[in-house]
Amino acid sequence: MSWHINRWRRNRILQQEEIPGSIWQKMINMRCLNGMNPDELRRLQELVLLFLHAKVINGAHDIEITDEIRVTIAIQACILILNLDLDYYDSWIEIIVYPSEFILDYDYMDDIGVVHHDRKIVSGEAWLAGPVILSWQQITQPNFKYSHNVMIHEFAHKLDMLHEGANGCPPLHANMSAHTWHDVFSQAYAAFCHQVASGLDLVIDSYAAESPAEFFAVLSEVFFESPLIVKQHFSAIYEQLALFYRQDTAERWTGR
Ligand SMILES: [Zn+2]
Repeated sequence: MSWHINRWRRNRILQQEEIPGSIWQKMINMRCLNGMNPDELRRLQELVLLFLHAKVINGAHDIEITDEIRVTIAIQACILILNLDLDYYDSWIEIIVYPSEFILDYDYMDDIGVVHHDRKIVSGEAWLAGPVILSWQQITQPNFKYSHNVMIHEFAHKLDMLHEGANGCPPLHANMSAHTWHDVFSQAYAAFCHQVASGLDLVIDSYAAESPAEFFAVLSEVFFESPLIVKQHFSAIYEQLALFYRQDTAERWTGR
């Protein structure tokens, strides 16, 4: 189903479906929702219902997709688009949940044009115009040291992919400058790669040095999970992320 549904249809979906109260009450204690006001929580709840109506969540390897799994995933997807539009997720419909980490077979071309086949163990994956794949084990047992959130990470990739593929630059709003975004992210990425190569203590996961796309996805995780870290250590990036997501997540943590 397309996100391009009119207000009448959205209201009809919202009237017909609901999140079990006990599950919602359990979920709103999530770290990434810290400090949200009642209006934000109400809008998030509406987005979650519309998201679950439009997307298909399938389990792999016999995992049973419960309401708790569905709502958990939908909340993390919708927190990213709380102040954007529903159609940011319009180009794909499926989420596949594995019970634990999964093996990915893939082909890639090296610098001289030779195609190689490889396998790797991953905890999440977002395919261009395809599904988002998640590991439930990684969702329930995240690495708290670096404020990991594999769901926010993969859905951030989906937003990034809306503009010229996964390159660390999602489609920017009219009040934003592509030049500023590029400068801010390139400089911070180069500095971070230098920190990783030098073996210095890091405040975000070194995986962010893999590519500009991973840098954006990892910083998006931390922007929602531990925003004060981004604001303190990557202040220029914090400003750009706040403009893109149209959310001042650090303000939620420090009080209004
Ligand atoms: Zn990634």
